Amino acid sequence: MEEKSLKSVYFHFRFKFLAVTSIAFLLYVILSGSGEFDQFSASIQFKLIGPFFVFAGISFLIFRRFPIKCPSCHALVATRKDWECAYCQKFQGKDRYLIDKCLHCRQVQATAACEHCKEEFLL
Ligand SMILES: [Zn+2]
Ligand SMILES: [Zn+2]
Repeated sequence: MEEKSLKSVYFHFRFKFLAVTSIAFLLYVILSGSGEFDQFSASIQFKLIGPFFVFAGISFLIFRRFPIKCPSCHALVATRKDWECAYCQKFQGKDRYLIDKCLHCRQVQATAACEHCKEEFLL
């Protein structure tokens, strides 16, 4: 397993990118805000918090649905299916997102297999 270098589809990267952007935005709002809450709540940064997190939430929903392109055969791989856990080798028994933890062992999947060419890749 170790010597086989798997190609990555940067699936988890989408969510890390979203989390980092959200934290950076919050820090920016807090650091650039004025000390007085009355002034702070009237600032443009404060007014942007709501729309920004609505946008981040929608992005999260789109990101987990957005299909992955298989790095081996370039076919689209569904992110919601009855996937097999790489840790306990059990199927989920129902359609679930690849970003979700395994129902049986609570592990987050690091790899997934393409349903077209059966090649494994990193998420
Ligand atoms: Zn494939
Ligand atoms: Zn499992």
